Amino acid sequence: MSIFVTKSFLPPLEDYQKLISQIYETAILTNSGPMVRELESKLREYLGVEYFHYLTNGTIALQLALSAMDIDDGEIITTPFSYVATTSSILWQRCKPVFVDIEPNNFTIDTTKIEAAITPKTRAIMAVHVFGYACDVDKIEQVARKYNLRVIYDGAHAFGTKYKGRSLLSYGDVSTCSFHATKLFHTIEGGACIVRDKSVSDKLELQKRFGHNKDDHFMLGINAKQSEFHAAMGLANLPYIDDIIASRRRICELYDSELSGVVGRPKAQENLEYNYAYYPVVFADEQQLLRVFDALAKHDIYPRRYFYPSLNTLPYVDGTPCHISEDIASRIACMPLYPDLAESDVRNICQIIKDTL
Ligand SMILES: *Cc1c(COP(=O)(O)O)cnc(C)c1O
Repeated sequence: MSIFVTKSFLPPLEDYQKLISQIYETAILTNSGPMVRELESKLREYLGVEYFHYLTNGTIALQLALSAMDIDDGEIITTPFSYVATTSSILWQRCKPVFVDIEPNNFTIDTTKIEAAITPKTRAIMAVHVFGYACDVDKIEQVARKYNLRVIYDGAHAFGTKYKGRSLLSYGDVSTCSFHATKLFHTIEGGACIVRDKSVSDKLELQKRFGHNKDDHFMLGINAKQSEFHAAMGLANLPYIDDIIASRRRICELYDSELSGVVGRPKAQENLEYNYAYYPVVFADEQQLLRVFDALAKHDIYPRRYFYPSLNTLPYVDGTPCHISEDIASRIACMPLYPDLAESDVRNICQIIKDTL
């Protein structure tokens, strides 16, 4: 059977069916029904946060983070090393992404280069906790305070990671998450905004459902509400989250022991409780990466070039060069990682990599 970079976790079918039967009884399918409210309350508790909005996906979460803070023009300082949604959400909100290069240890935005990119038009910093590794949140907070900027974290990979004892998603003015089927914790499709201030949270609450409350229309809005069926999948998955992270950890440790000294690896910062969301490896150069991909494909194994290309090179942005991001993007890939990936498969993957190199 083919091995892909990831495989969605599915809870026992009976667990999901039980919740679906409840939906059939109430016939409430959406509009903040009981499943959505219960999932929100459980996730608030799990993450230890106060203002949490469950949304249709992680991309709309980024767009709403900007609009709820009235950021609809100007420049947003961001990272070129991410999934395209980080950049596209900025452009979709009619703002300009200004790319700051990454630091080579864990591929997050290089905080020593942020100040030089700030102009009178800068409104916010949108940084990414790449692969679940933490940005330098303390330094980013400090720069944002100094220049009166908002901070948004794209935490699509950060579910389950803690930094200094707190969920990594509790940092910044708004942190977003994705619960897409390929992510560590999923609700098939889904996302969230975790908000620091009540005023921003109240605005987001209205904006996510068309900007009105009954017949009172307050502001321009959009539809980012999530359905009861999606929430039910989240409720069925959540009890397994610790097991999911523990299995991923075992697989990552096996990769580590087999590949140590063979490929480059990110360095986690201190005070980080990692979630083992991805297993990125850095090759010496792109040719090496392509040779490994060819060899693995012959065994029906498909890792993914993630992230590639560096977002400052997208055809629809005017990107300044970001040498470190472009270099890393050309030779990094994520290896297969999911809870029921067999140990023998991991050993096999590592052997093929070693034989190729
Ligand atoms: C997956 C992902 C998103 C988008 O989330 P969706 O739920 O798929 O819309 C945004 N940013 C990053 C870094 C991601 O990996």
